[in-house]
Amino acid sequence: MGDEGKGKIVDYLSKDYDIIARFGGGDNAGHTLFKNGKKIVLHNIPSGILNKDVLNVIGNGCVINPISFKAEVEMLMENGVDVSNIVISDRAHIITPFHIKWDAYNESKLGNNKIGSTLKGIGPCYTDKTSRKGLRVRDIQEPDFSSWGVRMMQQTKLPFNPPNLTEFYKACEFMRKFRIEETHILINKALDKGQRVLAEGAQAFGLDVDFGTYPYVTSSVTSTGGVCQGLGVSPKLIGNIYGVVKAYYTRVGNGPFITELFDDVGDEICEVGKEFGSTTGRKRRCGWLNLDELKEAIMVTGTSDIILTKVDVLEGFDEVKVLSDGELISFPGWNTTSHKDVELDHFLETIKNILGIPFKLISHGPERDDIYWGVTIK
Ligand code: GDP
Repeated sequence: MGDEGKGKIVDYLSKDYDIIARFGGGDNAGHTLFKNGKKIVLHNIPSGILNKDVLNVIGNGCVINPISFKAEVEMLMENGVDVSNIVISDRAHIITPFHIKWDAYNESKLGNNKIGSTLKGIGPCYTDKTSRKGLRVRDIQEPDFSSWGVRMMQQTKLPFNPPNLTEFYKACEFMRKFRIEETHILINKALDKGQRVLAEGAQAFGLDVDFGTYPYVTSSVTSTGGVCQGLGVSPKLIGNIYGVVKAYYTRVGNGPFITELFDDVGDEICEVGKEFGSTTGRKRRCGWLNLDELKEAIMVTGTSDIILTKVDVLEGFDEVKVLSDGELISFPGWNTTSHKDVELDHFLETIKNILGIPFKLISHGPERDDIYWGVTIK
């Protein structure tokens, strides 16, 4: 649930697209890519950024933290990445230092029932959006923005000391120099011209505010419906829908997890798969793939193809299991280095038949080109 390697897959697919667009969430996402062997973790910026030929859009459905945006851009520049192809929606909401303080405050009040928030201020920012008192990217372009902090503090009674806003203002100033546009118009015009747009999801179906394991969910719509609203495109324009799925299941923080492993096998998956959150560094809970939940996700999202990742992590295991119709089915482990593996083929073929949709890609390593095409690895 999250951390399937969506970033790597978007980076890989970006060569076939003109625009990569994030449609929801904020820097609670952590998408890991590799550039010439160097690890790059993205939080706000779409995963097409390493491909200089694509435009990277942060859509209206996103929330954006100017401080972490600035740090991310500077990190990319240090790594020689061109950042001139970023466009930010004027309607995206801004995560302020107040939101981050609210997040910590709210979570501290929950005691043992913590949501497992990444404490990035995402929830409070979306709350302000729906309460119609949020700060939008277009607001930082206004001449009276410098007095925004004072106005905020006059309006709201805070249960904590007010945050220092110096770094925030500096980061907003930095962000203002980027292209800030009505990205829904930009995207629709691009589609009219026949350009290809890939909407990049964040978090996971199981964390969707409606369909996920509420209340242990994120505060945005992570499934396909979020694409239309978060980018301003009609459902009629949506083409293929790729579901990125990990060959096993993980979860960070609290919430239900039927196939969770509490034994050595779970620990081994965690260790081999390096299952520590790229945003929080927290150890992820590990277990077997749950095809019953996956079927529901495919139904609601309309997924047309599965992209299966991290098959290499289960390599060499005596036994690999998946949950289907409430029962665990067992498979022998496999060997991904051979490019021709009967056990992996059998695993993929069985899952494909249960889910009723094809595999588009199989990922067997963190690097961009650790990819097999098609249903089987032959
Ligand atoms: P995202 O949020 O879905 O983009 O996923 P993260 O970047 O948080 O976590 C995925 C982790 O798995 C990253 O460290 C990736 O480098 C790594 N990764 C992606 N695909 C594969 C794969 O097929 N095999 C292995 N072993 N690691 C992968």
